[in-house]
Amino acid sequence: MIELEAVTSRTIACTSGIKRSGNFGGIALQTFVIAIDATSSLDLSRQFRKQLEETFNLPVKYLFLTHTHSDHRNGLQAFKDVPLVASKNCIQNMPKKLSSTDFIINSFQKSTTIEDGLSTVEFHWFGGHTIGSSGAYFPDDRTLFSGDLIFHRFNFSIPFLTFYQNKSFDNMSKKTGNPEEYIVAFENILNMDIDVIVPGHGPIIKNPKEFIQQQLVFINSVKVATLEVVRNNESMEDICLNDLKLVQLAYVRCDEEGKKAQSWKKWLDKYLDDLKQAFYTYYMALNV
Ligand SMILES: [Zn+2]
Repeated sequence: MIELEAVTSRTIACTSGIKRSGNFGGIALQTFVIAIDATSSLDLSRQFRKQLEETFNLPVKYLFLTHTHSDHRNGLQAFKDVPLVASKNCIQNMPKKLSSTDFIINSFQKSTTIEDGLSTVEFHWFGGHTIGSSGAYFPDDRTLFSGDLIFHRFNFSIPFLTFYQNKSFDNMSKKTGNPEEYIVAFENILNMDIDVIVPGHGPIIKNPKEFIQQQLVFINSVKVATLEVVRNNESMEDICLNDLKLVQLAYVRCDEEGKKAQSWKKWLDKYLDDLKQAFYTYYMALNV
């Protein structure tokens, strides 16, 4: 049995990271359910769908995919019979081995909605984490499923700009994370009426305003630090993130790991280096 947690009366999520999966969940409308993300494996996805339909006693009518990474997408085949809702960028960046002709696709550029009775679910493209990242917002329950735009506790709650996508539009750069999209996304989310966020990984977020504000401060601070280095013709290594609150908290958490502290720190150093590289590459290319 998968542990599916009731987020609100009509939304549900698994946030345990079972089988290295990203979070997945569902939104129940009057006559059907929208499943959100396809887990890290086909077996898991089949079980998830079964439990989702049993919990609400309603059929799954759509699968929404937040982005193309395998920990959210590997179980897609379990939803082959229902339309796949995803951003156009997400669909265009699907791995080649996954022929999109296998699926009924409802793609959208910036946003779209699905309605049932008096309820509506909104889907918004964000970008940021990956070129195709988007989220599902259910206004009735003021709930946002954010995908990997937001990590909670997982990866120390530090946002990540993905370096690669399975293929990119220009076939040149495979680095599709985008700091400016992250900033716009967080600003937009702050303007939404939200009580709870189901992040891409980690437990649900019950203080969304405070949490997103902190994420926004973080991204803006990394941007400022990067711009300074770029304008001074310094190197990527000169970007200093040590004063940032999220980074300090992350190192404190490493220390709490006792014997494993050193390996956690090593991992975190690498994570932050990758983040710096993503920002540096992005702003260098802009010729700021
Ligand atoms: Zn993920």
